[in-house]
Amino acid sequence: MRFDSDYKMLIDGKLVAASDDIEVINPALGTSFATCPRATKDDLELAVSAATRAFRTWKNVPLDERRIALKKAAAAIMENADAFASLFTKEQGRPTALAKEEVMGAAYWLSSTADLELPVDVTEDTDQRRIEVHHVPLGVVCAIVPWNFPMLLASWKIAPALLTGNTIVLKPSPYTPLCTLKLGELLQEVFPPGVINIISGGDELGPWMTAHKGFSKISFTGSTATGKRVMESAAHDLKKVTLELGGNDAAIVLPDVDVDKVAEQLFAGAFSNTAQICVATKRLYVHEDIYDAVRDRMHEIAKSARVGDGSDQGNTYGPVQNKAQYERVLDLLEDARKNGLQLLYGSDVPEQGYFIPLTIVDNPPEQSRVVQEEAFGPILPMMKFSDLDEVIDRANDTDYGLAGAVWSADLEKAKQVAASMETGTVWINQNLQSTPFTPITGHKQSGVGSENGVYGLREFTQAKAIYIPKSAASVS
Ligand code: NAD
Repeated sequence: MRFDSDYKMLIDGKLVAASDDIEVINPALGTSFATCPRATKDDLELAVSAATRAFRTWKNVPLDERRIALKKAAAAIMENADAFASLFTKEQGRPTALAKEEVMGAAYWLSSTADLELPVDVTEDTDQRRIEVHHVPLGVVCAIVPWNFPMLLASWKIAPALLTGNTIVLKPSPYTPLCTLKLGELLQEVFPPGVINIISGGDELGPWMTAHKGFSKISFTGSTATGKRVMESAAHDLKKVTLELGGNDAAIVLPDVDVDKVAEQLFAGAFSNTAQICVATKRLYVHEDIYDAVRDRMHEIAKSARVGDGSDQGNTYGPVQNKAQYERVLDLLEDARKNGLQLLYGSDVPEQGYFIPLTIVDNPPEQSRVVQEEAFGPILPMMKFSDLDEVIDRANDTDYGLAGAVWSADLEKAKQVAASMETGTVWINQNLQSTPFTPITGHKQSGVGSENGVYGLREFTQAKAIYIPKSAASVS
């Protein structure tokens, strides 16, 4: 299989081109290097009809066979991990070694989710009757994925949807469609026609999908603004929704930590993937006793960071993924500059492409845009605090509630802080961790529902209670 050309959609088990194409940009160069199909409404119709037909049989395929199919999908990804990783770097920008981690992560998620169990619940079992609650599939799932983790986040939808007996039509972001389309080509050999369909398109495709009556469920990952539109569109036919949305995650660093040990980890938690991670630290609160030391150490790390084209070995940080996001981060930087905020820049970056130095904003006011908004790019506000209760209030004073972190040598105190953070995930002395067995959930406007683990599986099913008498005496 070639990874450098022939990007086609997977519809009803066939690889399909479109009458029109979309240019795909390499963000390290700012120039187009490939095209992907721009799906039409007819393509969407074909995909939804194929998924609807396939659902009739796929839901009755024994669970163990569905597990085996997901394991085969995982193995196929692993066999092609290097090819995926270099294509990933070209379209997404992330350095190839780190891109490969995501590719392998997608395989791991498919394979691990396949092992999950969602057994029948028995809510009553008496001499008279037994009540069983089964988890039945919903139908055809509409899956929409963003550009920051295109393969991993696709696997978070494909695995639970198919394991529980649904079929799926998945759309990657127009900025990062290529690896997902190649994934479709691999999965053509693994799943029966129509069980998984992958279609690519422009800004018009997402709204067409969410409004389509053929879907029973929407699983969406993206920004909070788009998530609200998705929910509005889903309301017309009361489609079930899972929304994994934006965040403005706070990390709180207590004065008892070893600055040298913690600074590297704080830096990685904020700037990995060039800060384009939904659960990255986006507001860093450091106790005043160690603030200057942490700031200076992090600034040193930023100045020595290797930022550049991800296909050059040795670079650890790539570009911002697309022009719109690049301009948004530049706008936040300009706003900070205009307001006289202290900016601590990292190493120089290439002139070509969507590069921005890894930048720390030194103790900006809480109300500044860079603190209040999700930057989703390499600009990190770092603030001083003196009182723990007060900083917890500051951390929670946001419409978002995705993840948070607390850093302290006192685990009991850290657990108390964790308990008071209004987020779906809290890490103690670590960050950016997730597992296929643990739900990721957005509080407040960071989401609706959960992904991953048994919590995630449930989102792709309907609870169905069956009351079974112990004898048929009353009717015979
Ligand atoms: P986005 O909302 O712009 O786009 C996400 C996806 O939705 C893309 O595939 C896009 O084409 C599609 N889309 C756009 N408009 C649509 C519409 N009206 N209806 C249906 N689909 C539409 O987000 P993005 O810029 O691609 O991703 C960045 C955002 O995603 C950040 O806010 C980040 O925090 C969030 N994110 C959240 C998680 C999580 O698990 N909570 C994970 C990754 C990213």
